Amino acid sequence: MWLPPADDVLRVTLLGTGIPNAQVNAFGTSTLIEAGEERILIDCGRGAVIRLSQLGLGVGHVDRIFLSHYHSDHFTGLFDMAMTGTIRQNFGGRNGPLHVLGPPGIERIAEGAWIATAPDRDIRVADNEIDAEHMRIIPHEYAEGVVYDQGGLVIKAIKVDHGDFIDIAYGFRVEYAGRVFVHSHDTRYNENLIAQAHGADVFVHEVAAARQEIQDKMPAIKLVMEHHASPAEVGRVFAQTRPKLALLTHLVLLKPDPVSINEVMQELAAEYDGTVMVAEDLLSIEIGRNISVIPFHRGAKPDGGL
Ligand SMILES: [Zn+2]
Ligand SMILES: [Zn+2]
Repeated sequence: MWLPPADDVLRVTLLGTGIPNAQVNAFGTSTLIEAGEERILIDCGRGAVIRLSQLGLGVGHVDRIFLSHYHSDHFTGLFDMAMTGTIRQNFGGRNGPLHVLGPPGIERIAEGAWIATAPDRDIRVADNEIDAEHMRIIPHEYAEGVVYDQGGLVIKAIKVDHGDFIDIAYGFRVEYAGRVFVHSHDTRYNENLIAQAHGADVFVHEVAAARQEIQDKMPAIKLVMEHHASPAEVGRVFAQTRPKLALLTHLVLLKPDPVSINEVMQELAAEYDGTVMVAEDLLSIEIGRNISVIPFHRGAKPDGGL
């Protein structure tokens, strides 16, 4: 059963902590932010609808989504949200359009989604099952800086560096009741992120690693590594920002001969002596007087879901 957070608590639930590879335990990136009356999704990767349902939260109860950048693992769940959210049942129940905020390019996604969802929409409208306008994605373009400020919840977009040919990618700084959560999203080692992550209570950072001999043999893996931060680089980011709690997400540890998580942690530890956790899907972090980390299977009712 879903319950709202306490008044002075910023709750962050990591719905998806994966990468484009389809994995049952790590869906595409998606993070639910809850504070007071505010409820925002940042990124909407594969399976976000399933993860919200596991929390006992109908997908229609989230009507505002920020996208960090346009790699597929960060928004393939958007069309599921747009369509499923219109259905007038507990698992859906959105009473208006879906507002999606992204870097330039968001209009194309909104236009494309309106076209691609038309066959489903036509059937359901003819059946008098849904309101057509509830399936519409309203696009909003944002730039670096404050992108949301309502009900005491402030979200700032931080320009990061996700590779030479990706003009725009953002991480986010989320503030509520004096608490601070920072999520790198996809980035290489980045000074702007370090500067804007100061004073973070909780800092979630992506990481990627591959053995040098694999990178030498396989240009495709070398290419992937050039878009992300190595464990040593993430260690240097944490060492310069010193969050109360640091977590790793979006672990790019590709086959063949993948680097183990223990090796990642060892490399990171050479640069940073603080506490580092590995994120998992549905991990809930409550930032209030203290920082509580609640695994899904301890926090939810055993028969939770919708
Ligand atoms: Zn990604
Ligand atoms: Zn990416």
